Amino acid sequence: MHLTIGKILKEYKEYLTDYEIEQLRKVQREKTDFAAQVKQLQLALFAEEWDFMMDSARNPMSQEATNRVNRKRKAFGVNPVDASGFGADSSSKLFCEEVVRHTKNYNELLELKKRNAKQTVFVDMDSVLVDFQSGIDKISEEDKLKYDKKLDEVPGIFSLMDPYDGAIEGYKWLCANFDTYILSTAPWENPSAWSDKLLWVKKYLPKAAHKRLILSHNKHLAKGDFLIDDRTANGAGAFVGKHIHFGPEGKDFADWKAVISYMKNLA
Ligand SMILES: [Mg+2]
Repeated sequence: MHLTIGKILKEYKEYLTDYEIEQLRKVQREKTDFAAQVKQLQLALFAEEWDFMMDSARNPMSQEATNRVNRKRKAFGVNPVDASGFGADSSSKLFCEEVVRHTKNYNELLELKKRNAKQTVFVDMDSVLVDFQSGIDKISEEDKLKYDKKLDEVPGIFSLMDPYDGAIEGYKWLCANFDTYILSTAPWENPSAWSDKLLWVKKYLPKAAHKRLILSHNKHLAKGDFLIDDRTANGAGAFVGKHIHFGPEGKDFADWKAVISYMKNLA
């Protein structure tokens, strides 16, 4: 729907009360960060969800008021509530996040605009772009025994790996919105890994990552804003920008969906 606060004020007036319009204008004027603005917008536009404002136990909304509120909610594609404001789910929050995103008037983004630059993102390969386990699954039992705890030294293993779930689409989306590079470490004792990594990138991201592959044991030397990495090894933990700690087990960003939904706020 690509609604901005300005568009709502212009095209959805018939669904709004004077109070809501006044509150919306306030949100539009104030410059806050993304999360704060979402909260303010939610309060301004969907005040019926807050009990303290409705005093719901003693004084529920009249049928007429409930109908009006739900006409408005429907117009925005948000789920309806009952007379006490009950029934609100996450749909109003998601709606507000989208509106703030499209309004593009939150501090993080304004700062970037001031600097007038695309931010730089580095993306790790193993267990981020590349499904490391899928390579292990394809090597012989003999190699598995021979290399035991040093499976990343099996000759050719890196050429056998499949892309990580959601990685190709995710990387391409990053490319469209950020200055994006691959930053990976190839094992020192496995020379074929260095060429296999290049071949993997040529195979799966021929255009998006063309001449954008950096192989290094010193990731902290890469100058940029974000590093998406499942580990802190090889300098990743000392990266100067934000380390987006990726991975399913207790990390901050469980999968590519989580990464993109975070990065969307900064694009
Ligand atoms: Mg890794």
